[in-house]
Amino acid sequence: MQSYNFSAGPAVMPSEVLAQIQADLAQSQKGHMSILEISHRSLTFDKIVDQAKDRLRELMNLPQDYEVLFVQGGGSLQFEMVPLNFANQKHQIAVLDSGNFAHKAAQAAQAEGVSAKIVASSRDEKYRYLPQLPADFSAPAYDYLHITTNNTIEGTCYHQSNLPQTTGPLVADMSSNILAEPYDVRNFDLIFAGAQKNLGPAGVTVVIVKKSWLAQQNVTKVGPMMRYQSYLDKNSMYNTPPVFNIYALNLVLGWVQDQGGVPAMYAANQKKAQLLYDYLDQSDFYHPLVTGADRSLTNVVFSTGNDQLDQTIAQQAQEYGLYNLAGHRSVGGFRASLYNAQPLAAVTALIDYLDKAQKEHQNER
Ligand SMILES: *Cc1c(COP(=O)(O)O)cnc(C)c1O
Repeated sequence: MQSYNFSAGPAVMPSEVLAQIQADLAQSQKGHMSILEISHRSLTFDKIVDQAKDRLRELMNLPQDYEVLFVQGGGSLQFEMVPLNFANQKHQIAVLDSGNFAHKAAQAAQAEGVSAKIVASSRDEKYRYLPQLPADFSAPAYDYLHITTNNTIEGTCYHQSNLPQTTGPLVADMSSNILAEPYDVRNFDLIFAGAQKNLGPAGVTVVIVKKSWLAQQNVTKVGPMMRYQSYLDKNSMYNTPPVFNIYALNLVLGWVQDQGGVPAMYAANQKKAQLLYDYLDQSDFYHPLVTGADRSLTNVVFSTGNDQLDQTIAQQAQEYGLYNLAGHRSVGGFRASLYNAQPLAAVTALIDYLDKAQKEHQNER
């Protein structure tokens, strides 16, 4: 039976990439020179880092003034690293509180001694919709505005067409939809994304930073590992980087290029999401938790309205080869993650199953 993994992260990877990793490891077994065993100072690895950077540059259309850095510590470390490096003039940042991860970012900035002002929030409505910048938002009062483009847990998304408009610096957590839909990088001053949603295995975080903004910062009190400049100066090898993860990331980026880049990913992701949302919209049994333009393409959240029943249906899905459909514990219901590597066939299989489950459980709701 074909099985599909709907995990929100770490998440499904392209099967071609998994096969390549296996082949590479098998081939290098005898000489003990596999990617798991070589120096990060080797020419082999140097080439991998440069190729991964070039591929990201091309895929995201990066202007000259932007640089790609590879950092560890996940999206969560960025919640602290960004304010440490960029909140050093006004010591105050603005946060659009659109979900759990935005909220955590605000708390982490506070813990670093920065005032994180929540300028709009949908927390009281369980983050079912996207908060918008208030009309009187004053960008000059803050070092930057922090947003989460895609809210992984709640299934909402600021797409390029509904990005908050600010005249000041904009920082975006793109952990769960980088390369899944097009963004104009020139709208942002810093973008970060943990790899484990859309870019490969957990362990490396991509940071895209505008160099002219970085150059303005006074970071003499920030230690070298927390300072972006260290990564910039040393081609992301100030210390030992996560060698295997960058290698795997590079393979995923090559795969995205082979598929036709971000436009092709976007078209496929729209098709997958549309199919599932259309099904949920017409259903009298399941209902999507997010409506309209705020909907995420990569994380679709829905429910029958009965939490116990949702859990049963998500559990039974495993018998049909459909895994990890339970929603985040803070939301409940179902969450189907449809990242780049998720095939359309996963969505049709899911819809078939949801239909079956409805017939079986029609009267239990
Ligand atoms: C998963 C996720 C994070 C947290 O990433 P870690 O790598 O676990 O620190 C942050 N932001 C968003 C939007 C995410 O999806």
